[in-house]
Amino acid sequence: MSPITHFLTGWAVANTARLGRRDRLLVTLAAVLPDADGLGVLLDLVRRNSANAFEYYQRFHHVLFHNLFFGIALAIAALAIGARKRMAAGLVFLAFHLHLLEDIVGSRGLGDDFWSFPYLKPFSAYEFVWKGQWPLNGWQNFIITGALMALMFYLAWKRGQSPIAFVSTRADAAFVQVLRDRFGAPAELHVS
Ligand SMILES: [Zn+2]
Repeated sequence: MSPITHFLTGWAVANTARLGRRDRLLVTLAAVLPDADGLGVLLDLVRRNSANAFEYYQRFHHVLFHNLFFGIALAIAALAIGARKRMAAGLVFLAFHLHLLEDIVGSRGLGDDFWSFPYLKPFSAYEFVWKGQWPLNGWQNFIITGALMALMFYLAWKRGQSPIAFVSTRADAAFVQVLRDRFGAPAELHVS
């Protein structure tokens, strides 16, 4: 699925526990990072190999980082640098697997161009695939992304935090204030 869908999924997972900003970032990134194996496309652009224009992209995307061992590596990294270490590592592992799930249900290319990936590489070359996979631009993905977007807005209004805080806490506070001015303060903020 698209990086935006993966990102919003990671954000939703990051909000299932009370986490600080750093842990929320780790969990959110875990849902996006697997697609960094698609960055081979940059090498392809530099090389401009006319025989196979997307050689590196095709060789590594959905191979290098779409496997169990990358998920474990991410979880170990969260154990090492997270604040609530075990909680962060567990949610990182979950967010990573939700990325794989999203890819396997809804990342089909044109026609019968199914996405598959070798989850157990290097121990097994078996390619996991689901034949019910819907297209990358299918309506299902629009609904999922829309729902995740709505959840992001709701969490910002309710909890007073959004992914904008990764860039600027001040901009995040302003965003939350706009929502609360528009929709009223959430119940627990009312002073009786
Ligand atoms: Zn992916």
